[in-house]
Amino acid sequence: MTVVIIGGGQAASQAAASLRQEGWTAPITILAEEDRPPYQRPPLSKKFLEGALEAERLLLKPEQFYAQNSIDLRLGVRAASIDVDGKSVSLASGEKLGYDKLIIATGSAPRKLPVPGADAQGVFYLRSAADALALKPRLAEGKSIAIIGAGYVGLEVAATARKAGANVVIIESAPRVMSRVTGEFFSSYLQKHHLARGATLLLEAMATRLETDDGRLVACAFANGEKIAIDTAVIGIGVVPSTDIAERAGIKCDNGVTVDEYCRTNIEDVFAAGDCANHYNTHYDMNLRLESVHNAIEQAKTVAATICGKDKPYRQAPWFWSDQYDLKIQSVGVSTGHDDYFVSGNPEEDSFSVLYFSGNRLIAADCVCRPADYMVVRKLLQDQRLISIDDVKGADGDFKALMARR
Ligand code: NAP
Repeated sequence: MTVVIIGGGQAASQAAASLRQEGWTAPITILAEEDRPPYQRPPLSKKFLEGALEAERLLLKPEQFYAQNSIDLRLGVRAASIDVDGKSVSLASGEKLGYDKLIIATGSAPRKLPVPGADAQGVFYLRSAADALALKPRLAEGKSIAIIGAGYVGLEVAATARKAGANVVIIESAPRVMSRVTGEFFSSYLQKHHLARGATLLLEAMATRLETDDGRLVACAFANGEKIAIDTAVIGIGVVPSTDIAERAGIKCDNGVTVDEYCRTNIEDVFAAGDCANHYNTHYDMNLRLESVHNAIEQAKTVAATICGKDKPYRQAPWFWSDQYDLKIQSVGVSTGHDDYFVSGNPEEDSFSVLYFSGNRLIAADCVCRPADYMVVRKLLQDQRLISIDDVKGADGDFKALMARR
């Protein structure tokens, strides 16, 4: 009974480790495209990019962990196709591997900026450690960097670049930053924070061309004919789930590989976890494809348990974090569609939480330098407690009181 895992990221590494913890003694093979053992991606836009974290400390497990646990970690190999009838995976090299259980943990890839000049020298995406190492020397005094996309990648790189003394222009097509994941109040707060630290912010702005001189990036041009001189561009305009191999095998996909709460696909003995998986979330009564460390870990644990015949469905309120300058941002839940919000604490002092409600029920929160608030809200949401905006106002900042209330 062999488990083959396609992918070499957080979900793949966790699935292999959890399989062993759940008692799986048969062979496990991880097929990883990168040359590095599975590593953490969050520091790539923060501490690792700053140079404050060495490459070895990025690793999720010490290199010897895999051999010690009889996990065949194959680096630098590309899975090319899956034969779900014959239960095998073909590699780009032509080699074929049989499986009894298959886990697709292929993650996601940066969305490409579809404009002329986007392949110029000086244009970067940030997904791998190699990307971060290539970008790092550009974050320095005297450099002029356009950050295209004001999501997590864009704002974290903007903060790292400003701290290194570079000139930073953030270009966002939406009317506000982080619009995919947060509400207007919090976007507005973040915008002020970035502006106060010297970044320039262009909202509702679309780069239409990246201009080059002898192949090197020199300017970013906009639809209205304006141009800014830059030597570097970092593109962070979202990711697309890596589902090509699954789709070609006839596995059901819809913005990710479609899985149930046990991470099972529509094909027997084929599972998916992490950024590439789109699951039905019992907490939010909707399908979600989450791009987070927490989701990768928890789905991987679910897959491992399911394969080992245990009943541990994925039932999680999602959570995320981001570091931007001195801000420790912790978010929990999904605020999309909220119809009310309440701010506790003091944004002027960079210590506050925004709580989001839908139909007078707490659904999410963004907490800035408020770990205690975050922990309470996370527990409330995980336990699916019914907390109204009046409950929160009544607690007068004492979130722990909310735990006792209901
Ligand atoms: P993201 O968070 O989805 O943000 C992308 C932003 O770019 C969106 O605001 C998007 O606006 C905007 N955009 C799209 N096309 C654009 C264009 N042509 N010009 C300017 N702006 C454009 O994605 P990301 O920042 O690239 O992050 C990539 C992945 O890494 C995500 O999975 C993210 O969760 C993950 N990540 C997470 C963290 C964290 O949790 N702290 C940190 C780094 C990365 P629209 O929404 O209007 O398209």
